[in-house]
Amino acid sequence: MSDRPIYLDCHATTPVDERVLAAMLPYFTQHFGNPSSISHVYGWEAEAAVKQTRSILAEAINATPEEIVFTSGATEANNLAIKGVAEAYYQKGQHIITVATEHSAVIDPCNYLKSLGFEVTILPVEKDGIINLNQLEKALRPDTILVSVMAANNEIGVLQPLAEIGELCRSQEIIFHTDAAQAIAKIPLDVQAMKIDLMSLTAHKVYGPKGIGAIYVRRRNPRVQLAAQQHGGGHERGMRSGTLYTPQIVGFGKAVEIALEEQKIECDRLTQLRERLWEQLSQLPGIHLNGHPTQRLAGNLNISVEGVDGAALLLGLQPVMAVSSGSACSSVTTAPSHVLTALGHSEQLAYASVRFGIGRFNTQEEIDKVAEYFISTVQSLRQQATFV
Ligand SMILES: *Cc1c(COP(=O)(O)O)cnc(C)c1O
Repeated sequence: MSDRPIYLDCHATTPVDERVLAAMLPYFTQHFGNPSSISHVYGWEAEAAVKQTRSILAEAINATPEEIVFTSGATEANNLAIKGVAEAYYQKGQHIITVATEHSAVIDPCNYLKSLGFEVTILPVEKDGIINLNQLEKALRPDTILVSVMAANNEIGVLQPLAEIGELCRSQEIIFHTDAAQAIAKIPLDVQAMKIDLMSLTAHKVYGPKGIGAIYVRRRNPRVQLAAQQHGGGHERGMRSGTLYTPQIVGFGKAVEIALEEQKIECDRLTQLRERLWEQLSQLPGIHLNGHPTQRLAGNLNISVEGVDGAALLLGLQPVMAVSSGSACSSVTTAPSHVLTALGHSEQLAYASVRFGIGRFNTQEEIDKVAEYFISTVQSLRQQATFV
């Protein structure tokens, strides 16, 4: 393992924690039952395990277990939230509001609805990546049925003011959805205090397995309706049919349980590592921090570098560190990140950008090694550029 590059791409995904894997394993072979089988012990023990994760997730966000609907991840949860609300409420209105820096799993379902005749307002963000609440308030209309604003951004780590957004939406009886894929068990989330009606979650960004997520669907004050996007056996109160994937669900619960237990300490540790990395990198001239300096995820550092080609920089860094520019989800294209462009960066600067996602298994020695190599790589690329 040690000769492989240092992994600093924790916004793309994280390794499964050994403790999570250990909790999952018995559910592949021993407790393999179908949680919907109600007539024997195989079903009961699987159902008990699923129930436990439901409780852990509910407690993590101050919801009730009945309000948790399992999905294959946050992409599916976002699709279910946005298309599910559109289909259930289109007679009330056909206007949806979201934000320019959202994940493509929010932007694309909104664009799809637009192609069906819905109207979509895409709010800009301020230079620091945070939305302007006055602008949001002005965008709300009598026919607005949904506001979708993410909790924590996957590229620049910026945290949106959920409680203020929730307050605005609730006062006008508009459903508020938040994509909390990057936020769950990393920052405090409370669907009551923040007046959140729908929340998308995923396991693989918090050291759980890939392929499992959930959506919180508010049942009271107000009760939110979602039109199912996948039909079948009527699982998950009819909102998402399909046999529950017990091992993944067990892993999801364990991952969130651990992350919550360690949340405070880990947040402080990651903040320290992030600051240490930034202190060193910012000694280079022509380096810019992207996003709000403090209102961001502890493990996120996103910077733009002047005077180097973005692709050349990433190529130069590859032997020592696994980082990315923009998000993994859109990295098939070489276009500048839509998130950085939304901050008002020129295309050139948006392109020469690097996202560091520091996580649970990174050490201070790794951070120092990364900083040193990063600085020398930028310096040599800049030198080469002057000789051309
Ligand atoms: C990773 C991510 C997603 C997609 O989640 P999957 O579980 O991989 O489908 C959606 N939104 C945000 C903000 C993300 O970071």
